[in-house]
Amino acid sequence: MAILNIIKVGDPALRKTSRPIDKITDRIRILAADMIETMHEAEGAGLAAPQVGVLRRMVVIETEEEETYVLINPEITERCGRQRNVEGCLSVPGEWGITDRPETVTVKYTDLDGEEQTLSGSDLLARAICHELDHLEGKLFIDDAIMIHEDDAMDIMFGDLDPQEIVDDVEGGEDEQ
Ligand SMILES: [Zn+2]
Repeated sequence: MAILNIIKVGDPALRKTSRPIDKITDRIRILAADMIETMHEAEGAGLAAPQVGVLRRMVVIETEEEETYVLINPEITERCGRQRNVEGCLSVPGEWGITDRPETVTVKYTDLDGEEQTLSGSDLLARAICHELDHLEGKLFIDDAIMIHEDDAMDIMFGDLDPQEIVDDVEGGEDEQ
C-alpha cells in the first residue's frame, strides 16, 4: 500500500467531472486501499479519487465511529433538513468555511465486492458524503462557503462558537430567512 499525493486547489484535475467505474478491478481495489491509508495519514474524514489525481467516481469516508466506507459510483437519493457548519478540505489546506448542507442524506453506491449498498448519515457523516461527492463533479467547498479565520473554525469545531453568529456578522446582522 502507499500514501498518495493529495493534489491541491489550482490543479485543474480538481475541477473535472470524474467518470463512472464499470468494473471493479484489482487496480480499483488497490486504489481504494491506498486512498484509505492516505486519508488516515492526512487525518481527514474523507477523500475522493480526483484528489489523488484519478478521475473516477470513488470516495472513501470515515465516520466518527471510525468505520470506513468505500463508495463506488455513489449517488445521493435523499436529502433532508439543513445544517450549517464549518468545513475544510485536504486539497485546500489551512482554509475553512461555513457551508449549508442537508442534515441527513442517503447515498446508494456499489461496494468493493460489486454489491449495491445504501448508507444514510446525519451531521458530520452527511457533510462528508456531500463534500466528497461534490469532488466527483469538480466542485470544491470554497465555491459556496463563507470563508472564515482558522481560529473561528477551531472554536466552532470545539463547540465554543455558533456558526450562525459568524454568518450574521458577515451578512451585517440581516436575517437571511
Ligand atoms: Zn475535499
